[in-house]
Amino acid sequence: CGIIGIIAERDVADELYDGLKRLEYRGYDSAGICTLTGGGMERRRAKGKLHNLREKLTKEPLGGHIGIAHTRWATHGAPTEDNAHPHATKHVALVHNGIIENFKALREELVRDGRTLESDTDSEVVCHLISREVEGGASPEDALKTVLPRLRGAFALAILFADRPDMMIGARKGSPLVVGFTDEGETYLGSDALALAGLTQRICYLKEGDWCVVTRDGATIYDADNQRANREVVTSGASA
Ligand code: GLU
Repeated sequence: CGIIGIIAERDVADELYDGLKRLEYRGYDSAGICTLTGGGMERRRAKGKLHNLREKLTKEPLGGHIGIAHTRWATHGAPTEDNAHPHATKHVALVHNGIIENFKALREELVRDGRTLESDTDSEVVCHLISREVEGGASPEDALKTVLPRLRGAFALAILFADRPDMMIGARKGSPLVVGFTDEGETYLGSDALALAGLTQRICYLKEGDWCVVTRDGATIYDADNQRANREVVTSGASA
C-alpha cells in the first residue's frame, strides 16, 4: 500500500517510520521496516497500527544507513506479522505494492526448486525470484532484468541487497513510485510525493515499466527495455 526507502549516511529507521506515518492516510493492516547494518539485514514488523511497530522499534532499535519500509493493505494472505512486508531471504529484502497475478505458478516453481517461503503473500515470490538470481552470481541489476519481465500484474517495488549497502533498487508497473533527490548525499524512494514530504520536494515520477538503481548520489533510471532513461525532476507541492 505505502512504500518508503532511504539511503543516507545516518541512521534511517526513525525517518522511515515518519514516512510510514505520512502514508497512514492510505489505510493499512500491518507495517514493517528493514535496514542493512554492519551485521546484515534486520527487520521489525507488526500487525495493526503503526504504534505496534513503534513499540518493537523502541524495544529493539534498528541501526543502519539504508532501509525500506511498508504499510500493507493485504490482498493475498491474512494481515499477520509473517505476511507483513518487508519480505526477506538471507540476500534480498523487498517491499511491494500491488498484485502479482501469476504468483501461484511462480511460487510452485520456487518450491520445486527447493525454496522455503515463509508467507502466504504474492509479494514474497518476487523476493525469492530475485534472491535466486543473486545467489546464482547475478548482479542486482541483472537479477532485475531477468525477474521483472516474468511478473504479471501491478507492482511498485523497493529492494535491498545484503551485500550492497551502497544501493537499493526501485521498479514500477501499474503502481506509482517516485525517487526523491537531495544535495546532502541522501536519496529516497516513495510510493507518492507525500511519503517523502518531510525529506525533499525534489522528486521524479518513474514512468510505466521503469526501474532504477538508487545511491546516495542520485539514481540511474532504466526503461522497460533496460535502456537508460532521463526523467524530469519536479518540485512537489506536498508538504509534511
Ligand atoms: N499484494 C501484496 C500483499 O498482499 C501487497 C499489498 C499492498 O499493496 O499493500 O502483501
